[in-house]
Amino acid sequence: MRAAVLESYGEPLRIESVPEPEPEPHGTVVEVEACGICRSDWHAWQGHGEWADDQVPLGQVLGHEPAGRVAAVGEDVTRLSVGDRVAVPFNLGDGACPHCLNGHGNVCDDGYALGFEQAAPGAFAEAVHVPHADYNAVELPANVASEEMAALGCRYVTAFHALSHRVDLGAGDWVAVHGCGGLGLAAVQLAAALGAGVVAVDVREDPLELASDLGATATVDASDVDDVPEAVATHTDGGAHVSIDALGRAETCRNSVECLRTRGTHVQLGLTTDAERGEIALPVDRMSRWDISFLGSRGMPPTRYDELLRMIATGRIDPGALVTRRVALSDVSDRLAAMTDYGTRGVEVVTDFGG
Ligand SMILES: [Zn+2]
Ligand SMILES: [Zn+2]
Repeated sequence: MRAAVLESYGEPLRIESVPEPEPEPHGTVVEVEACGICRSDWHAWQGHGEWADDQVPLGQVLGHEPAGRVAAVGEDVTRLSVGDRVAVPFNLGDGACPHCLNGHGNVCDDGYALGFEQAAPGAFAEAVHVPHADYNAVELPANVASEEMAALGCRYVTAFHALSHRVDLGAGDWVAVHGCGGLGLAAVQLAAALGAGVVAVDVREDPLELASDLGATATVDASDVDDVPEAVATHTDGGAHVSIDALGRAETCRNSVECLRTRGTHVQLGLTTDAERGEIALPVDRMSRWDISFLGSRGMPPTRYDELLRMIATGRIDPGALVTRRVALSDVSDRLAAMTDYGTRGVEVVTDFGG
């Protein structure tokens, strides 16, 4: 089958013919119908993460936002059959450790990061293997298309887990979102759908317009104001209850912490770049003095995808609205390169695996 393989950091992915996966006894093989392209792919492609012992190995098939049809089922799998339409979470659990058994499969002791490690080849390929499929694969409602699920990708599930599970977001709360790439825009749309007022922050006009379309109450062009936290405070009557750094730069992280009101909560979703190498200086005295919380959040437990899928099935959110481009497997390298200069807008999805 065809797959896009990381052969050298920062160089075009090589389209190769690789062996079709065979299902493990506990796994299934899914024929990929759509797979989102994401800034996490860009980080992997750049070779980031060695400072956190998290660098993606060369030879990796990238791609972690697939949806498709079950093509083969291992002998121990009971819940899935050939032909079922499924989403494949990117943080896969083993279904057996204390975290998985307590509903926290996103931080499984023995989990897999789909498309980021050798044990879990990704879905920039015609087919992908899903380990522990009874636990991990998520059946799609009939009215949710594979392309919509791919657009949902890791961005919506990450934003939803942050807003609904890590933070107890209240209707009427103010949420600030720093960085309006795919993840930030998903956070904007979800926070609005969950009843919050949303201030979207970015340095580019286009994504801010898209944020308004998706439900942002106000926008702040950070290239246009001297003091971003002050601008957010103006729109939120004194500061956000919840603020998200969806980008992972020192400036966006600090702005996010500093735009909070007393007892506010910052959630770190973006991973840092070469410039920060995982470390950012923060106003910790101020955080201590005002009961500010700083939370990390990663993906979403596979066992809670149904909550988000119900929001799509009932029309409360529309991930398809974020899709700005459908591309072929051979275009992925170009689209990753476009992310280097923040030259993409919304979500781009691979839908043609033969081209
Ligand atoms: Zn586990
Ligand atoms: Zn992603």
